[in-house]
Amino acid sequence: MNLVFLCGKRNNMKLVDNFNRIHDYIRISLIDKCNLNCIYCNPSNSFARFESNKSILTYEELFRLIKIFVRDLEVKKIRFTGGEPLIRKDVMKFFEMTSSLKNQYDFEIGITTNGTHLLDKLDSLLNFGVERLNISLDTLNKTKFIAITGRNYLDETLTAIQKAVSMKFRSVKVNVVVIKNINDDELSDFVEYFKTYPITLRFIEYMPFTGNQWDDSKFLSWKEMKSRIEEKFSLTEIQSDGKVSKDYFVNSSNLKVGFISSISDHFCDSCNRLRITAAGQIKNCLFSNPSDLSLKSLLADETISDDMIIEFIKNSLQSKWLKHPSVDELLKLNQNNMMSIGG
Ligand code: SAM
Repeated sequence: MNLVFLCGKRNNMKLVDNFNRIHDYIRISLIDKCNLNCIYCNPSNSFARFESNKSILTYEELFRLIKIFVRDLEVKKIRFTGGEPLIRKDVMKFFEMTSSLKNQYDFEIGITTNGTHLLDKLDSLLNFGVERLNISLDTLNKTKFIAITGRNYLDETLTAIQKAVSMKFRSVKVNVVVIKNINDDELSDFVEYFKTYPITLRFIEYMPFTGNQWDDSKFLSWKEMKSRIEEKFSLTEIQSDGKVSKDYFVNSSNLKVGFISSISDHFCDSCNRLRITAAGQIKNCLFSNPSDLSLKSLLADETISDDMIIEFIKNSLQSKWLKHPSVDELLKLNQNNMMSIGG
């Protein structure tokens, strides 16, 4: 039993791990299915989902969980991801539900999406208080887009990004996973294409997940990415407290670029994130095993109090690693799948 839990007032408890890291950012996967089949993400090479409909958290269960996070655990940011969150049935009704919490508690909502089903939802998302959009896009080339994702959706995604930047979202980021000999020739093209956009382009180091064919020869470090961009553009570093992304202004443009260096320079010491899989398991690191017990069994049971759920979450956090294992160790994991974790 955790002492903080015993001593703390229920309405004033932070989620703190054994290394004194405060967890105020929760990523929740809404669904473990995607309409894209990205080569680096979905190793099953199919569009099938892993969990059955019945085993993923219902919207009511999710609502209860989010309320606990923002009301009792001082969580300041919730990001919904997947699979592809925007393909879940009735997802906008769910965002309408969460908007009622935004009126009562001080927290931000974001989504990570591939953008293919975003355009017609942008107005409602903004109305429902979803203020932060991360949109994944790994190439500007239509043929390559199909080769990477298995689908022909480049135009839809670009159109959604264009509309999003003209709206009042607090932040729009475009996420690019960089893989050698796949899209590393496009780094400057991305900067050129988006240089008039007031957004952040985030170049992400390719991470190894089960079956995703990661190997050293496909890996490009953030430093290499940066120097390639600097062959054409000049960058000015943006100082910030957070260490997740190394951010730069692209001089003489509206654009910022950020580099996510999970592999070559991990930022575990400042990790403030806890992940919940679509099936309700807690993942306290992107690379750790999910909790054996799913939150679903607790959230679905009205006889289980919110305090008991809080205790379960806090106890799960105590097993969080100080830092994630080396690449060699990560390559040995055999059930670590980005589609089911939610990125
Ligand atoms: N469908 C949504 C999307 O495409 O953004 C959300 C889910 S996706 C798993 C979330 C993020 O994880 C995306 O930005 C994706 O590019 C990233 N991602 C997936 N596999 C990755 C890998 N092997 N290395 C680095 N990032 C990865």
